[in-house]
Amino acid sequence: TPVVHLEEVGKSYGNVHALRGVSLAVRQGEITCVLGDNGAGKSTLIKIIAGLHEHTDGVLSVNGERRTFSSPRESLDSGIATVYQDLALAPLMSVWRNFFLGNELTKAFGMLDAAKMKKIAHEELTKMGISIPNLEQPVGMLSGGQRQCIAIARAIYFGAKVLILDEPTAALGVKQSGVVLKYIVKARDAGLGVVFITHNPHHAYLVGNHFVVLKLGRVALDTHRADITLEQ
Ligand code: ADP
Ligand code: ADP
Repeated sequence: TPVVHLEEVGKSYGNVHALRGVSLAVRQGEITCVLGDNGAGKSTLIKIIAGLHEHTDGVLSVNGERRTFSSPRESLDSGIATVYQDLALAPLMSVWRNFFLGNELTKAFGMLDAAKMKKIAHEELTKMGISIPNLEQPVGMLSGGQRQCIAIARAIYFGAKVLILDEPTAALGVKQSGVVLKYIVKARDAGLGVVFITHNPHHAYLVGNHFVVLKLGRVALDTHRADITLEQ
Protein backbone atom coordinates (compact mmCIF):
# COMPACT_ATOMS: atom_id res chain seq x y z
CA THR A 1 0.00 0.00 0.00
CA PRO A 2 1.14 3.57 -0.64
CA VAL A 3 2.55 5.31 2.45
CA VAL A 4 0.59 8.45 1.55
CA HIS A 5 -2.52 8.13 -0.55
CA LEU A 6 -4.79 10.94 -1.72
CA GLU A 7 -8.10 9.92 -3.21
CA GLU A 8 -10.20 12.56 -4.95
CA VAL A 9 -8.83 15.22 -2.60
CA GLY A 10 -10.17 18.74 -2.92
CA LYS A 11 -9.33 21.99 -1.18
CA SER A 12 -11.23 25.25 -1.45
CA TYR A 13 -10.30 28.63 -0.05
CA GLY A 14 -13.74 30.21 -0.01
CA ASN A 15 -14.80 29.88 -3.62
CA VAL A 16 -11.27 29.34 -4.95
CA HIS A 17 -10.85 25.64 -5.77
CA ALA A 18 -7.11 25.17 -5.28
CA LEU A 19 -7.33 21.38 -5.68
CA ARG A 20 -10.07 19.30 -7.28
CA GLY A 21 -10.36 15.49 -7.37
CA VAL A 22 -6.64 14.95 -6.86
CA SER A 23 -5.58 11.30 -6.52
CA LEU A 24 -1.97 10.48 -5.85
CA ALA A 25 -0.06 7.53 -4.40
CA VAL A 26 3.33 8.03 -2.72
CA ARG A 27 5.31 4.82 -2.27
CA GLN A 28 8.36 4.17 -0.10
CA GLY A 29 11.56 3.79 -2.11
CA GLU A 30 10.23 6.06 -4.84
CA ILE A 31 10.70 9.71 -5.74
CA THR A 32 7.38 11.21 -6.73
CA CYS A 33 7.96 14.46 -8.60
CA VAL A 34 5.12 16.98 -8.54
CA LEU A 35 5.36 19.54 -11.34
CA GLY A 36 3.11 22.41 -12.30
CA ASP A 37 2.98 26.12 -13.03
CA ASN A 38 2.40 28.79 -10.41
CA GLY A 39 -1.09 28.49 -9.03
CA ALA A 40 -1.40 24.81 -10.03
CA GLY A 41 -1.91 23.75 -6.40
CA LYS A 42 1.52 22.41 -5.42
CA SER A 43 1.77 24.41 -2.17
CA THR A 44 -1.77 23.50 -1.24
CA LEU A 45 -0.99 19.81 -1.76
CA ILE A 46 2.06 20.06 0.51
CA LYS A 47 0.14 21.96 3.17
CA ILE A 48 -2.50 19.22 3.35
CA ILE A 49 0.09 16.46 3.77
CA ALA A 50 2.18 18.55 6.20
CA GLY A 51 -0.73 19.47 8.46
CA LEU A 52 -0.90 23.21 7.67
CA HIS A 53 -4.30 23.00 5.92
CA GLU A 54 -7.13 20.49 6.20
CA HIS A 55 -8.52 19.19 2.93
CA THR A 56 -12.16 19.97 2.22
CA ASP A 57 -13.03 16.89 0.11
CA GLY A 58 -11.82 13.36 -0.46
CA VAL A 59 -9.60 11.05 1.56
CA LEU A 60 -6.01 11.31 2.77
CA SER A 61 -4.56 8.02 4.04
CA VAL A 62 -1.21 7.41 5.68
CA ASN A 63 -0.13 3.77 5.88
CA GLY A 64 -3.64 2.77 4.90
CA GLU A 65 -5.22 4.76 7.73
CA ARG A 66 -7.61 7.60 6.97
CA ARG A 67 -6.26 10.90 8.36
CA THR A 68 -6.92 14.64 8.51
CA PHE A 69 -3.94 16.48 9.93
CA SER A 70 -4.80 19.57 11.95
CA SER A 71 -1.22 20.51 12.87
CA PRO A 72 2.30 20.04 11.52
CA ARG A 73 3.10 18.03 14.65
CA GLU A 74 0.49 15.40 13.74
CA SER A 75 2.02 15.04 10.30
CA LEU A 76 5.56 14.78 11.72
CA ASP A 77 4.42 12.23 14.31
CA SER A 78 3.05 10.13 11.43
CA GLY A 79 6.56 9.99 9.98
CA ILE A 80 6.17 12.77 7.43
CA ALA A 81 9.08 15.24 7.33
CA THR A 82 8.55 18.43 5.34
CA VAL A 83 11.39 20.66 4.20
CA TYR A 84 10.37 24.11 2.96
CA GLN A 85 12.47 26.04 0.51
CA ASP A 86 13.19 29.09 2.63
CA LEU A 87 12.46 27.74 6.06
CA ALA A 88 14.42 24.50 5.78
CA LEU A 89 16.02 25.17 9.16
CA ALA A 90 15.99 27.84 11.89
CA PRO A 91 18.62 30.35 10.67
CA LEU A 92 19.77 31.75 14.01
CA MET A 93 20.11 28.39 15.71
CA SER A 94 23.34 26.37 15.63
CA VAL A 95 23.81 23.54 13.15
CA TRP A 96 23.69 20.84 15.83
CA ARG A 97 20.54 22.24 17.47
CA ASN A 98 18.89 22.38 14.09
CA PHE A 99 19.73 18.74 13.57
CA PHE A 100 17.53 17.91 16.57
CA LEU A 101 14.92 20.58 16.00
CA GLY A 102 11.43 19.17 15.96
CA ASN A 103 12.74 15.86 17.24
CA GLU A 104 14.25 16.83 20.57
CA LEU A 105 10.95 16.42 22.37
CA THR A 106 10.44 12.88 21.14
CA LYS A 107 10.82 10.16 23.73
CA ALA A 108 14.01 8.60 22.40
CA PHE A 109 15.96 11.84 22.30
CA GLY A 110 14.45 13.88 25.13
CA MET A 111 17.04 12.66 27.62
CA LEU A 112 20.14 13.65 25.70
CA ASP A 113 22.34 16.51 26.87
CA ALA A 114 23.82 19.13 24.56
CA ALA A 115 27.25 17.48 24.28
CA LYS A 116 25.66 14.19 23.30
CA MET A 117 23.39 15.83 20.73
CA LYS A 118 26.32 17.70 19.24
CA LYS A 119 28.29 14.46 18.97
CA ILE A 120 25.43 12.65 17.24
CA ALA A 121 24.89 15.54 14.82
CA HIS A 122 28.59 15.53 13.94
CA GLU A 123 28.69 11.75 13.45
CA GLU A 124 25.54 11.61 11.36
CA LEU A 125 26.41 14.54 9.11
CA THR A 126 29.91 13.12 8.57
CA LYS A 127 28.48 9.70 7.79
CA MET A 128 26.23 11.31 5.19
CA GLY A 129 29.21 13.07 3.63
CA ILE A 130 28.22 16.54 4.85
CA SER A 131 31.23 18.27 6.33
CA ILE A 132 30.48 21.35 8.43
CA PRO A 133 33.65 22.51 10.24
CA ASN A 134 31.86 24.31 13.05
CA LEU A 135 28.57 22.91 14.31
CA GLU A 136 28.14 25.89 16.67
CA GLN A 137 27.68 28.34 13.82
CA PRO A 138 24.17 29.49 12.99
CA VAL A 139 22.63 27.56 10.12
CA GLY A 140 21.87 30.89 8.42
CA MET A 141 25.60 31.20 7.68
CA LEU A 142 25.52 28.11 5.47
CA SER A 143 24.56 27.98 1.81
CA GLY A 144 21.00 27.17 0.81
CA GLY A 145 22.19 23.85 -0.61
CA GLN A 146 23.93 22.86 2.64
CA ARG A 147 20.78 23.70 4.59
CA GLN A 148 18.65 21.49 2.35
CA CYS A 149 21.16 18.63 2.72
CA ILE A 150 21.18 18.93 6.53
CA ALA A 151 17.39 18.92 6.59
CA ILE A 152 17.30 15.79 4.40
CA ALA A 153 20.00 14.04 6.49
CA ARG A 154 18.02 14.82 9.64
CA ALA A 155 14.82 13.34 8.19
CA ILE A 156 16.67 10.13 7.26
CA TYR A 157 18.35 9.86 10.69
CA PHE A 158 15.12 10.35 12.60
CA GLY A 159 13.45 7.60 10.60
CA ALA A 160 10.93 9.61 8.58
CA LYS A 161 8.88 7.45 6.24
CA VAL A 162 8.01 10.27 3.91
CA LEU A 163 10.04 13.32 2.93
CA ILE A 164 8.26 16.28 1.34
CA LEU A 165 10.57 18.74 -0.41
CA ASP A 166 9.19 22.09 -1.50
CA GLU A 167 11.22 23.36 -4.48
CA PRO A 168 14.53 22.34 -2.87
CA THR A 169 16.64 23.31 -5.89
CA ALA A 170 14.72 26.41 -7.01
CA ALA A 171 17.13 28.93 -5.48
CA LEU A 172 20.31 26.97 -6.25
CA GLY A 173 22.89 26.96 -9.01
CA VAL A 174 23.92 23.95 -11.07
CA LYS A 175 26.53 22.59 -8.67
CA GLN A 176 24.51 22.99 -5.47
CA SER A 177 21.44 21.57 -7.19
CA GLY A 178 23.48 18.49 -8.07
CA VAL A 179 24.47 17.99 -4.44
CA VAL A 180 20.90 18.35 -3.20
CA LEU A 181 19.65 15.94 -5.90
CA LYS A 182 22.22 13.43 -4.64
CA TYR A 183 20.70 13.68 -1.14
CA ILE A 184 17.22 13.25 -2.54
CA VAL A 185 18.41 9.97 -4.08
CA LYS A 186 20.01 8.99 -0.73
CA ALA A 187 16.67 9.48 0.99
CA ARG A 188 14.95 7.31 -1.61
CA ASP A 189 17.64 4.63 -1.25
CA ALA A 190 17.16 4.74 2.54
CA GLY A 191 13.59 3.62 1.82
CA LEU A 192 11.72 6.89 2.24
CA GLY A 193 8.88 7.92 0.00
CA VAL A 194 10.04 11.25 -1.40
CA VAL A 195 7.70 13.92 -2.75
CA PHE A 196 9.81 16.31 -4.80
CA ILE A 197 7.95 19.49 -5.72
CA THR A 198 9.73 21.29 -8.54
CA HIS A 199 9.32 23.65 -11.45
CA ASN A 200 12.32 22.06 -13.10
CA PRO A 201 11.47 19.11 -15.41
CA HIS A 202 15.17 18.40 -15.87
CA HIS A 203 15.74 17.96 -12.13
CA ALA A 204 12.62 15.81 -11.94
CA TYR A 205 13.77 13.57 -14.78
CA LEU A 206 17.26 13.17 -13.29
CA VAL A 207 16.00 11.54 -10.08
CA GLY A 208 12.28 10.75 -10.37
CA ASN A 209 10.53 7.39 -10.51
CA HIS A 210 7.04 8.83 -10.65
CA PHE A 211 5.84 12.07 -12.24
CA VAL A 212 2.67 13.97 -11.47
CA VAL A 213 1.75 17.20 -13.22
CA LEU A 214 -0.83 19.51 -11.64
CA LYS A 215 -2.72 21.96 -13.80
CA LEU A 216 -5.26 24.38 -12.32
CA GLY A 217 -5.74 22.15 -9.29
CA ARG A 218 -6.20 18.90 -11.19
CA VAL A 219 -3.89 16.02 -12.05
CA ALA A 220 -3.04 16.52 -15.72
CA LEU A 221 -0.52 13.64 -15.91
CA ASP A 222 0.47 10.74 -13.64
CA THR A 223 3.13 8.47 -15.05
CA HIS A 224 6.02 6.24 -13.96
CA ARG A 225 9.51 6.24 -15.40
CA ALA A 226 8.97 2.72 -16.72
CA ASP A 227 6.06 4.03 -18.81
CA ILE A 228 8.18 6.67 -20.51
CA THR A 229 9.87 5.41 -23.63
CA LEU A 230 12.26 7.42 -25.72
CA GLU A 231 11.95 5.11 -28.73
CA GLN A 232 9.53 5.86 -31.55
P1 ADP B 1 1.26 26.59 -6.43
O1 ADP B 1 1.97 26.20 -5.19
O2 ADP B 1 1.27 25.48 -7.46
O3 ADP B 1 1.73 27.88 -6.99
P2 ADP B 1 -0.99 27.12 -4.69
O4 ADP B 1 -1.35 25.86 -4.00
O5 ADP B 1 -0.20 28.12 -3.94
O6 ADP B 1 -0.28 26.77 -6.09
O7 ADP B 1 -2.30 27.85 -5.19
C1 ADP B 1 -3.36 27.19 -5.86
C2 ADP B 1 -4.50 28.17 -6.03
O8 ADP B 1 -5.07 28.45 -4.77
C3 ADP B 1 -4.08 29.52 -6.60
O9 ADP B 1 -5.14 29.96 -7.42
C4 ADP B 1 -3.93 30.39 -5.36
O10 ADP B 1 -4.11 31.74 -5.66
C5 ADP B 1 -5.02 29.84 -4.48
N1 ADP B 1 -4.70 29.98 -3.03
C6 ADP B 1 -3.65 29.46 -2.37
N2 ADP B 1 -3.72 29.78 -1.06
C7 ADP B 1 -4.83 30.51 -0.92
C8 ADP B 1 -5.46 31.14 0.19
N3 ADP B 1 -4.96 31.06 1.42
N4 ADP B 1 -6.59 31.82 -0.03
C9 ADP B 1 -7.13 31.91 -1.26
N5 ADP B 1 -6.60 31.33 -2.35
C10 ADP B 1 -5.46 30.65 -2.18
P1 ADP C 1 3.82 30.25 -0.99
O1 ADP C 1 2.99 29.23 -1.75
O2 ADP C 1 4.65 31.13 -1.86
O3 ADP C 1 4.55 29.67 0.17
P2 ADP C 1 1.63 30.87 0.61
O4 ADP C 1 0.70 29.91 -0.07
O5 ADP C 1 2.21 30.48 1.92
O6 ADP C 1 2.79 31.26 -0.38
O7 ADP C 1 0.91 32.24 0.72
C1 ADP C 1 1.25 33.18 1.71
C2 ADP C 1 0.00 33.55 2.43
O8 ADP C 1 -0.96 34.11 1.52
C3 ADP C 1 -0.68 32.39 3.08
O9 ADP C 1 -1.31 32.79 4.26
C4 ADP C 1 -1.70 31.95 2.04
O10 ADP C 1 -2.75 31.26 2.63
C5 ADP C 1 -2.12 33.31 1.48
N1 ADP C 1 -2.54 33.23 0.07
C6 ADP C 1 -1.89 32.67 -0.96
N2 ADP C 1 -2.56 32.82 -2.11
C7 ADP C 1 -3.68 33.53 -1.79
C8 ADP C 1 -4.79 34.02 -2.53
N3 ADP C 1 -4.92 33.83 -3.83
N4 ADP C 1 -5.72 34.71 -1.86
C9 ADP C 1 -5.62 34.90 -0.55
N5 ADP C 1 -4.61 34.47 0.21
C10 ADP C 1 -3.64 33.79 -0.41
